[in-house]
Amino acid sequence: MICDLPEPVAASIMDGATRRAGACAEVKHVKNPIELARAVMEHTPHVLLIGDGAEALAKERSLSLMPADYFVTEHRKLQLQRVQEKEKSRKTDGGKKAQVPSSEAIGTVGAVALDRHGHLAAGTSTGGMVNKRVGRVGDSPLIGAGTYADDLTCAVSCTGHGEFFIRAVAAHDVAARMRYQGVALTNAADEVVLRQLAAAGGAGGLIAVDARGNVALPFNTAGMYRGVIRADGAPWTAVRKD
Ligand code: ASP
Repeated sequence: MICDLPEPVAASIMDGATRRAGACAEVKHVKNPIELARAVMEHTPHVLLIGDGAEALAKERSLSLMPADYFVTEHRKLQLQRVQEKEKSRKTDGGKKAQVPSSEAIGTVGAVALDRHGHLAAGTSTGGMVNKRVGRVGDSPLIGAGTYADDLTCAVSCTGHGEFFIRAVAAHDVAARMRYQGVALTNAADEVVLRQLAAAGGAGGLIAVDARGNVALPFNTAGMYRGVIRADGAPWTAVRKD
């Protein structure tokens, strides 16, 4: 069974100073799922809540809830249509073409931050891959896969074909390479995205910042919406490689 619109959403957040984390998945009415992820971190002894239980916490914390049709937009309808058409042509081709994890099917929002005290944090929020099976959970709400932050190394938020990021424990792998191998953020992030994930067929990218304010934004797809803003307040943004 394939998810119809609105697709359930998921989010996660991690505080690099304390390594506390919170996440939610399979929620359908929470206006800002990242607030629910933060509520899980700050107001429960758990890390990940899903479905009705997660929405119950949202109500308890008086977070904004919206009717399901609030989340159905023209953009998402067209996206679903396009992905379903591609998927159909893949099936009539005998499944020779790769499953559709193209940039068409993804659209996660992530943020990583370093504050003036040297503390790091990461957050990720998503509708998940378009045209997924009911019940499918991606990497975005999984700490270590889609999101990770540790003041000792870096803060990371991922986007891409979640199954590959889960198997690679991608966000944590960037931090682990820095910590255990002593390599710089860019080298660790490039190794995970441009070599490990790319070799496995895992399309996507990540944004990361380390405790010194170095930033890495590697991706192995045609483009990735990304931006950086520093204390001077001048934003830098880009979509494609150049
Ligand atoms: N990583 C997300 C997932 O697999 C998709 C995305 O990045 O848009 O659910």
